[in-house]
This record gives sequence, C-alpha cells and structure tokens, in this order.
Amino acid sequence: MKKYSVGIDLGGTKVLIALVDRETGEVLSSVKKKTKKDKGPKNIIRKMTDGVEELLEEMSVLKDEISSIGIGAAGQIDRENGILIGAPNLDCYDLNIREFISSNFDLPVFLGNDVEIATIGEMKFGAAKGCDDFVCVFVGTGVGSAIVKDGKIIHGATGTAGEIGHIIVDLNGRPCACGAHGCLEAYASRSAIERRIEGALKKGRHSVILDYMESGKSMTSSMIQKSIERDDELVKACVDEASEYLSGGIASIINFVNPKLIVLGGGLIEAVDYFYKNTIKKAKAKSLPVPASKIEFKKAALGDFSGVIGAAFLEDGKL
Ligand SMILES: [Zn+2]
Repeated sequence: MKKYSVGIDLGGTKVLIALVDRETGEVLSSVKKKTKKDKGPKNIIRKMTDGVEELLEEMSVLKDEISSIGIGAAGQIDRENGILIGAPNLDCYDLNIREFISSNFDLPVFLGNDVEIATIGEMKFGAAKGCDDFVCVFVGTGVGSAIVKDGKIIHGATGTAGEIGHIIVDLNGRPCACGAHGCLEAYASRSAIERRIEGALKKGRHSVILDYMESGKSMTSSMIQKSIERDDELVKACVDEASEYLSGGIASIINFVNPKLIVLGGGLIEAVDYFYKNTIKKAKAKSLPVPASKIEFKKAALGDFSGVIGAAFLEDGKL
C-alpha cells in the first residue's frame, strides 16, 4: 500500500487540498484557495493542480508515493465518469475533472460529492469510527445527508440518495431553491434561520445579533451562538423553529432507515450546542418508540478536515 493520498474538498467558495496519511488518516499538510472571484473550469482546475503541486513540494513527497487523488465537490456529479455535471457556485458545467487532474499527475482520480466525503471521513476516523450502519446529517447553508449501510454509502439509482434537505415537511410551505415547496432545507438550515431573523429585524424586532453583524456580510453560526448565550429572544425563537423542523426530518430518518447511529455535523451544529441538544431530544420524542430506544447520536468529530480526509479514501469504495 502506498503511504499517502491527496484529498480535495471543492466547496462553493474555497477549495481545501490535503496530503493525508493512508494509515492514520492524519492530515500532514493542507492548502486552502479561494474560489469566489476566479471561477470557471480553467481557474478551478488550475487551483487544484497548483495546490497539489505545492503540497508535494512542501512535504518532499514524490508522485510515486501517492495512491490516488480524491475530490469531493459541492454540486451534481457523475461518479462513474469523474464529471462535475453542474456547480453553479463555481460556474462549472460538464467539467471532466478526472481527465484534467489525472492528465496532470498521471494518478488515479476519484470523484464524490461534498456530503459523501465528509461521511467517509467520519466513518474512517471520526464520530462513526467502528460503526457500519449510520446516517450523517450536515446542517449549514443547506441540509445534506448520507446513508451508510454495511460500511458503504447508499447512492441510489441516480446517485442522489440521502437528499434529506428536500424531504417535504410542509405541503404548502416556503419555496426551496430546488423548485419545490416546503423542503426541510427551507426551514432547518443556517440560511433559513438567517432569513427568519433578517425578516423579523426588518419588521422592527430587536436582537443582540445586530451587535455582531456587519452590513453586506452574511450571518454566521457563531453570531447565532453568541446571541443565544445572551438569551436573545428572537434568535432563540428562530433557532427553536429550525430545530422543530430538523427534529421532524431526523425522526423520519430514524423510522425509515432505522440506523444504529446518527452523526450530526456542519457549521450550525458545531457552533450552536443548544440547537444540537434540543434537536436530538425532540427527534427521539417524535420517532417510533422501538427505534428511538436504540438510536445513538454523536457530533461530527473532524470539523473542516472531514471532507479532505474522506476524499483521500474515496478510492477504497471504487478499486
Ligand atoms: Zn428542495
């Protein structure tokens, strides 16, 4: 077995590239590049190849010592052919990532999505280590999830299984970016909480969150946390509402999939313990008694590195 793999987490605003030890899962070195301004296929590919080259040089690692390059992208992907079908945030469509990256490095290249790589990271070295039957739910800008059965991620017929953010929780509800109405994501994500708080502020409600907000910048999970610490009524009410919906979604997972463990991660879960604790309490209360009596909850353990670590091990499922 070769000693290292490269893991790449290609997000909407940044790409994180890491050299990972295949035995320990340790990130030996990493480099982060912003993708906000220089988008488009050429720029994105160049940022990834530059990053890999920088890492190999910095760590004095030869290409021969690398087993593979794994990439997880936020967007629609074609795993089999290594194609990024659509990533509006990166202005990339039908981009054959595998072909470009492998022609640069002459190494096997594997493509997955962002939720998938974070889940593999948690399964190999994080909160789900040693468990082969669990569901990961990540709450941030959106709500994503992945189902793991017998140590393998369930992809479904079109590779899109686990889209819990788009289960419908209100038939006549809020519009969702996917085009439907009443999706969980429109109620339980950080963006949904942000929209609720901003809507109330515009109507003249007061909140201490104003002390942390700068004009033109978006609300962060840590601002939400600081406001809760100060017992802010408005922020608490909006977080409670999101928690109510998310717990309904999680109760549905418990009843429908009956996993041993649910790992919750993402910015909002990591920063706001109040949200995490309330959500799991409510989810247990809303699910059927038998699966609820056995379900275990854990917070994701690898933070920002879960994606690159998981991406470095994408090959394990494919070789
Ligand atoms: Zn939707």
